[in-house]
Amino acid sequence: MPIYEYRCNQCNKRFSELLLNQKEINQVRCKYCQSRNLTKLVSSFSVHQTEESRLSNFSTSNPRGDDFYKDSRNVGLWAKKRMKELGVDLGSKMDEIVEKGRTGKILDEYDK
Ligand SMILES: [Zn+2]
Repeated sequence: MPIYEYRCNQCNKRFSELLLNQKEINQVRCKYCQSRNLTKLVSSFSVHQTEESRLSNFSTSNPRGDDFYKDSRNVGLWAKKRMKELGVDLGSKMDEIVEKGRTGKILDEYDK
């Protein structure tokens, strides 16, 4: 899928867009402040990183801003990493768990 990642030069936030054609690419605006002053970052797909390496590249102990959780992929990733740290082997239930993580429910369950 043609997903493009941008950084806004106006508010400095990063976001990714699914863009299907050149017209959409030309019209892309910052999701946060509507600015068109954007820097295109490398496509998520050209940086081929395995999930394993993404998991090891960040720590669940680091503080994460609101932006982190706006990206549902990061929420799922965080949940998986946390599971590993807790020594929980969920096997095939992992997808379900990640789905819960993406809706924020997993945080309630495991903070208890
Ligand atoms: Zn912006």
